[in-house]
Amino acid sequence: MAQVLDGLRVRNEIFAELRPRIEQLRSSCRAPGLAVILVGDNPASAIYVRNKVKACEELGLYSETHTPPASVTTEELSDLVQALNRHPEIDGILVQMPLPPHVDARAVLLAVDPDKDVDGFHPLNVGRLVTGRPGLRPCTPSGILELLKRHSIPIAGREAVVVGRSDIVGKPTALMLLQEHATVTICHSRTRDLASVCRRADILVAAMGRPAAITGEFLKPGATVIDVGTNRLHDRAEVAAIFRNDAAKLAEFDRKGALLVGDVHPLDAAEKAGAYTPVPGGVGPLTIAMLMANTVEAAERRLRGC
Ligand code: NDP
Repeated sequence: MAQVLDGLRVRNEIFAELRPRIEQLRSSCRAPGLAVILVGDNPASAIYVRNKVKACEELGLYSETHTPPASVTTEELSDLVQALNRHPEIDGILVQMPLPPHVDARAVLLAVDPDKDVDGFHPLNVGRLVTGRPGLRPCTPSGILELLKRHSIPIAGREAVVVGRSDIVGKPTALMLLQEHATVTICHSRTRDLASVCRRADILVAAMGRPAAITGEFLKPGATVIDVGTNRLHDRAEVAAIFRNDAAKLAEFDRKGALLVGDVHPLDAAEKAGAYTPVPGGVGPLTIAMLMANTVEAAERRLRGC
């Protein structure tokens, strides 16, 4: 029986470790502060932002949300970021992606002060990651590393395969696994015979955004499987096919009108992996936990000597 890697448990551990650090900052100076910029009215982004603000409230962090309209220009958004860079009580700035297509997302991310870049997307922090220097790291990849380490999954010397090469998940995850001395392969949509490459993996990270695409034939028996994918299924037949007509899953779908599945086939992972992350409840909670950790770290650095 495969071990389930419990993201909620690890999130709670991380929160418990952050509380005394936050208390220390609050008593010596002030609470760490996070500013979130949510452009337009993308409902999925609004949910993500709400969850981030809720986590700040749970931990006693100061947060403020800025909601420019979808018509905002690159220049206006960059000006807002610059104002937050100067804001003394803000330690972390998060620009919720995606931005509207007319906005130059790269220019906006470049405007963020690297010391307040709690998403770890600024090229300076990317460079720090690539060269193994300390710096703010992207949240989902560092959450994946926490999940592995806190479940005592060995990384050094292992074959790791990362499916997906986005700047947000795939590439930084691969770099962090490399830093932990894994032998890393990065796959993408042009990779030939993906299944046979994935079967080499002792640690397989799926971050492609393709529901249940990684099936049993992609898995080496006993592998550790990290499923980053969050795909909302609206088609009952697709849910029935993936979950092999499981009555409980179909009832859940009927109740909610949709069902969340990862990029890894959940039943195949349970059968064949040594350990795997569930969706939901695996990687997802860690992304927010690491955002909180980055905000606290940024505040500690900025408030040193306060
Ligand atoms: P992107 O769409 O930016 O990148 C997807 C990557 O997967 C690309 O590199 C793409 O290759 C590759 N890919 C797509 N289809 C295939 C295929 N059939 N075979 C091999 N590779 C493929 O997605 P993100 O990295 O932003 O996110 C990936 C998933 O993770 C999504 O489901 C997203 O919702 C989820 N996510 C979850 C988070 C969490 O907290 N749980 C946080 C962030 C993301 P190519 O480059 O060639 O196009």
